[in-house]
Amino acid sequence: MAALDSSQLDQLVEKLKTDYQALLREVRDELENTGDQHRIDLLNSEPGDSGDESMANALADFNVAQLDRHVQSLRDIEAALQRVRNGEYGVCTDCGDDVSFARLQAYPTAKRCIVCQEKREREYAQEGHPKM
Ligand SMILES: [Zn+2]
Repeated sequence: MAALDSSQLDQLVEKLKTDYQALLREVRDELENTGDQHRIDLLNSEPGDSGDESMANALADFNVAQLDRHVQSLRDIEAALQRVRNGEYGVCTDCGDDVSFARLQAYPTAKRCIVCQEKREREYAQEGHPKM
């Protein structure tokens, strides 16, 4: 990790850990929210009674999707901290170049340098997901 000196690395690790704690708090909050009365009423209603069993499913799916995003973010941070331990943090996984400190400050979990990231996004756009 030639591009980062130890104080820069410390700063980024600190940010990763802070983000991680914040995400864990959000996941906990959301799990507690799944106990909210509206959802309980919906889930407790007899099938066919309110006539809307699929509503409960939709609500459950929504919560899972929310949690999935957080879980994915937690995994990204864990992977970044693992790269720190392995001495691979701040090195582009595609080309092996240094990822700039400025980019890591904006995206502490960035795995790729900006050149490789943009290349990937261009390829993704060409697969039928135009950005404009
Ligand atoms: Zn690269």
